[in-house]
Amino acid sequence: MECKDRNCPIHGTLSTRGTVLEGKVASDKMQGTAIVQIDRMIKVKKYDRYKRSRSRIPAHSPPCIGAKTGDTVRIMECRKLARTVSFSIIEKLAGEKTEEKAQDTPKKADAKKKPAVKKAAKKKEANNG
Ligand SMILES: [Zn+2]
Repeated sequence: MECKDRNCPIHGTLSTRGTVLEGKVASDKMQGTAIVQIDRMIKVKKYDRYKRSRSRIPAHSPPCIGAKTGDTVRIMECRKLARTVSFSIIEKLAGEKTEEKAQDTPKKADAKKKPAVKKAAKKKEANNG
């Protein structure tokens, strides 16, 4: 397959420089753009614990790489391609892992017990006078 993408960092004329990041493709629904999500654990010194950090970066997704949701990709900074896009995917690091879909495993919906006690006690009696 021939890559005709002008903004492809490999086959096109787009030059990439600056920050290099690795993340997971959270969405590939846009045309030529993917959302790359980076989850980090940041240490909070004061409490000696970690907090989760999540950043979602819109990145140009060249057709020759064909990044799909769930792929781990490396992105590199480039010139602004759109209002929010200033990164481009430069390589795919790992394909989509064999995700166990939640639909296959039967959920224990029946096990969830509903509280039998209804709010019968709070009937409005004062309405009629
Ligand atoms: Zn290409």
